[in-house]
Amino acid sequence: MNGLVDIGGTKCLVSVTGDGGLPGPPLVRPTPTSGDPGDFLARMLDEVRDGAQLAAVAVSTPGPFDRGRRRLLNPPGLSKAWHGLDLPATLGERFGCPVFAENDANCAALAEARFGAGRGFRTVVYYTVSTGIGAGVVRDGNLVIARHDTEAGHQVLWPAHLGGPSCHCGGHGCLEALASGNAIRRRFGKPAEELDDPSAWAEVGRWLGLAVVNTVALLDCDVVVFGGGVINAWERFDQELRRTVRESLFLQPLPEIREAELGVDRNAWGALTLVPGV
Ligand SMILES: [Zn+2]
Repeated sequence: MNGLVDIGGTKCLVSVTGDGGLPGPPLVRPTPTSGDPGDFLARMLDEVRDGAQLAAVAVSTPGPFDRGRRRLLNPPGLSKAWHGLDLPATLGERFGCPVFAENDANCAALAEARFGAGRGFRTVVYYTVSTGIGAGVVRDGNLVIARHDTEAGHQVLWPAHLGGPSCHCGGHGCLEALASGNAIRRRFGKPAEELDDPSAWAEVGRWLGLAVVNTVALLDCDVVVFGGGVINAWERFDQELRRTVRESLFLQPLPEIREAELGVDRNAWGALTLVPGV
């Protein structure tokens, strides 16, 4: 039995693997803003494992993360108590098992590539479009990891010298400053779930379409999968997104473009694939 942990900005999901080695239903708790976060996660794992020995714990982490030492760095939106949380020391020692960890965008990409909309494809790129935008690249079932992390949300689509809006990263005209949940609220004056202006959604679709074009240009991927809160409005912009891709790609075949398939525990399913032999 493996323990699975998804640390999110607002809630944490914890589950164990059950029949067939797949994740069981998650226990969901609000992410605490005080107290010892390692102890909080361990108590949630104790609840779901019900006395059984864990073979491994796999963790989906928010934001920047020390991959070598499996420590959280300074996850955005989480209280100071989470900064530097040492996962092997807090969870591995407590449960006497190895700990595997990866950031949430990569976990989601692994999950959709193995179990969701990307299964059966060799090269899968997953974009999460929610308050911010992130992405993960999976080739032959493995993450493509370079020096640090990919920052696909900060690919520049509208440069500063042409008037692109500022981005919190310090740049201008990043995808995240144009098509994320925060950008939609800022640019169109209401949250994505309340936005019903077709021209606004067409613009969102065009920016995301350009992101697909850039992604294919660099990776020649088979499929681009979109998930995250903004994708709840998929029907409002997917036609414009697809049109943008069709009208911009000339030298490479069109990729499959799909909506994500997995549910709220997507990151836990992805974390599970980090455990050797799974
Ligand atoms: Zn940026």
